[in-house]
Amino acid sequence: MKFSEIAYKRADIDGFIEELKKCTQKIKDAKSADEIIETLIETEISESALSSFSTIAHIRQTVNTADEFYEEEANYYAEKEPLLEEQGLYLKRALIESPFRAEVEASERIGTLPFINAELSIKTISPEIVPMLAEENKLIIEYRKLQGTLEVEFDGKKLSPSQMDFYLESNDRDLRKHANRALAAVYDANKDKYDEIYDKLVRLRTEMAQKMGYKNFIELGYARMMRNSYNEDDVKKFRDQVKNELVPFVTELKKKQAKRLGLEKLMIYDDKVMTKKGNPQPVIREKELYEAGINMYREFNDETKEFIECMDSMEMFDLYPKKGKTSGGYCTYIYNQKSPFIFANFNNTSGDVDVFTHECGHAYQAYLAHKEHFNKTKGFELMESLHGTYETCEVHSMSMEFLCWSKLERFYGDKTDMARLIHLMDALFFIPYGCMVDEFQHIMYENPNLTPAQRNEEWKKLENQYRPYLDATGIPFYGEGRVWQRQLHIYTSPFYYIDYCLAQTVALQIMEKMQKDGWDKAYDTYMSFTRLAGRFKFTELLKKAGLKSPFEDGVLSGVISEGRKYIQAHDSIL
Ligand code: ZN
Repeated sequence: MKFSEIAYKRADIDGFIEELKKCTQKIKDAKSADEIIETLIETEISESALSSFSTIAHIRQTVNTADEFYEEEANYYAEKEPLLEEQGLYLKRALIESPFRAEVEASERIGTLPFINAELSIKTISPEIVPMLAEENKLIIEYRKLQGTLEVEFDGKKLSPSQMDFYLESNDRDLRKHANRALAAVYDANKDKYDEIYDKLVRLRTEMAQKMGYKNFIELGYARMMRNSYNEDDVKKFRDQVKNELVPFVTELKKKQAKRLGLEKLMIYDDKVMTKKGNPQPVIREKELYEAGINMYREFNDETKEFIECMDSMEMFDLYPKKGKTSGGYCTYIYNQKSPFIFANFNNTSGDVDVFTHECGHAYQAYLAHKEHFNKTKGFELMESLHGTYETCEVHSMSMEFLCWSKLERFYGDKTDMARLIHLMDALFFIPYGCMVDEFQHIMYENPNLTPAQRNEEWKKLENQYRPYLDATGIPFYGEGRVWQRQLHIYTSPFYYIDYCLAQTVALQIMEKMQKDGWDKAYDTYMSFTRLAGRFKFTELLKKAGLKSPFEDGVLSGVISEGRKYIQAHDSIL
């Protein structure tokens, strides 16, 4: 069945809550570990079936935020899901307190990780915060809607912010400068709304945390992100290494970039343009680019071929920008269709190749894990054992971007070497930015009473630490320290961002392996990490796959020095 033909009906959440209550009781009354295991699996299967409908509603609402029907559906789930979470809390408590816990943990079918995660997830909810969670969900919908309604009049057209990227990367400096100003002006016209939504979110999240007995939102935020193998200190140490070791290297590269462009200093609108010749753009566009991407996965191996042909035949992609579509890209999984779904906003830049290969990395893992699950070829039977935590998922996608290097010619023609080099540089440039987003959020939730102006000042201070080479003076919106307001995750998924930085540190190791030992070996390492996702913690997965943890001393330095070697060997092409 094609995505457009899938019938939608509103999931009966109240009915399912009743079912969960019965299952909770069954777990309490169980006379054996097996009874508990059967109950858990039964609950999860009906929950996944139910989630198919909320996923479809979510996709259709993000594809067209002006669709009133799906907006109402999104609001329905925003309201009901916290109630479901509350009932989930009671079930997890019953599980943790069960006298059969040790036996269930020792079983081949469940394992210990679901218990560790249950312990974290019961720290994220209590009955008194349920109404506030619904309110938080609604604010997130409001932010997404705001992002979906932005429109820039430029070049005689009405364009979405993602369509503006095409101009922002232009090697005509005047053009990109004007494009940047036009886009900034649109954000600027909405700055009070951005401030207001964020202010409400920070206050609400802080209030929830305090109601639950935490000092501030940070601990609650970490529990929500299921940080089961590292803590706030580890993250801070990682960020400090980035500041001390990566920022100087990036600054050096950025100086060379400015020199190539013939500039004294890089303004924010010069940041993306790597060479005077212009960044390599895909030689094919839209439908052609999509087909080339599909063929690439047909060629890798039988497993990737089967995966991509399934998604292609079901038309599980929404790739082109249109009016009302929200920003960004994502991958999700529709359980009752046994297929992933990919959302993106192609804009005729190298970003199209990046987002396609990135989201396909997520989709490939989800497809394989569910396939093993449906075929019962996996020892661990819970759905939650199919997915790793977020940083693990981002390793699947960010490493996939590098694995696709071997087949980039179809996208870039004779500019392929340059495209690879710029991809690597962007991967390195990204890490300081990601850490800045992370540190910013720590500051925000440690100081929830900052005024909007003070928040922007904090961002500016971080810019000086993480991107000292970049100047935004005099540009509306950006010059005021508001870059962060474009960053979806800061609003929708607090503390989801360091995950990308950690994952990038791993993906760069896969890239290094590909250079040293060849594609097949790198793919094997990738798969040994990917196939176990969800069964082990992030740091354990790394060990099992022979990869190094970003928290280990010297790992980041190693990644930087390998990157430096590659760049030095290739940068004459810029
Ligand atoms: Zn991702």
